[in-house]
Amino acid sequence: MKIIETSEGAYQHALGRRARSVLVPTMGALHRGHQELIRVAREQARIGGEVAVSIFVNPLQFEPGSDFQKYPRPEREDEKVCREAGVDLLFRPRAEEMYFRDRSVYVEETSLSMGLCGASRPGHFRGVCTVVTKLFNLLMPKVAVFGEKDYQQLAIIRRMVRDLNFPVAIVGVPTVRDADGLALSSRNRYLSAEERAQATVLRHAALAAERLAQGGEISASKLIDMAKDVITSAGSARVDYVSLIDAETLEPLQTLRPKAVLALAVFIGGTRLIDNLRIA
Ligand code: AMP
Repeated sequence: MKIIETSEGAYQHALGRRARSVLVPTMGALHRGHQELIRVAREQARIGGEVAVSIFVNPLQFEPGSDFQKYPRPEREDEKVCREAGVDLLFRPRAEEMYFRDRSVYVEETSLSMGLCGASRPGHFRGVCTVVTKLFNLLMPKVAVFGEKDYQQLAIIRRMVRDLNFPVAIVGVPTVRDADGLALSSRNRYLSAEERAQATVLRHAALAAERLAQGGEISASKLIDMAKDVITSAGSARVDYVSLIDAETLEPLQTLRPKAVLALAVFIGGTRLIDNLRIA
């Protein structure tokens, strides 16, 4: 596995490469969700192709007062995960490598990023779009793989690629979960044992709303209230948002219709977790 830590190194590598390249952008603290993305990337790379993983805790996508400083950075373990998964290239730049001190250009999506996590985390998706643009420009992948766990992020990246004509195909991967249904996330590491047990409310809430919908309920507010009731039954849980949205436009729905997604963000103690479920 080749490890590159500078932007110039990444760019030179990409310029000299002839193989089809597939990129998995991450912030590290790799888990089975990331491993699944890497597996899909390997399929996408086809025989002889290159699987590249980037690990970069992107300061631009952390809003003030959030967990940038304490975000886990287990460098050695991540490197091992990548080696064992057969990754060809690990791009692991330092922040000084990625951002000029006097930078003044950003990439901003102005519609899909207004609600949900965009409303709770001002500037977050601008940071995401900017760093993904930079990674695409440096590493020049043919394909990039993202998780459906970050549903809004995936929709925004697809829109960015469409609107700005990036020559990159975007592939989405279904959410990987623990046996009890909790979506895997690097932030699950923050949870105490008690909080970890309570964190399953995100999944239980989504499934409860789905069951109600399967029973014939089509009112979005009733489905949302059901999910909120389940969430508040867990002592350390606090709802950030629960929303029923159109799968493509991310517009909030009043009534259930085909291609609806229940999206939720919940604080478990001090840790903010997200999940989503396609319910129609
Ligand atoms: P992160 O390191 O949290 O920025 O995530 C890097 C990529 O992994 C993103 O495309 C995420 O959507 C994806 N990802 C994170 N958790 C999961 C999961 N449980 N299942 C599938 N993909 C995931």
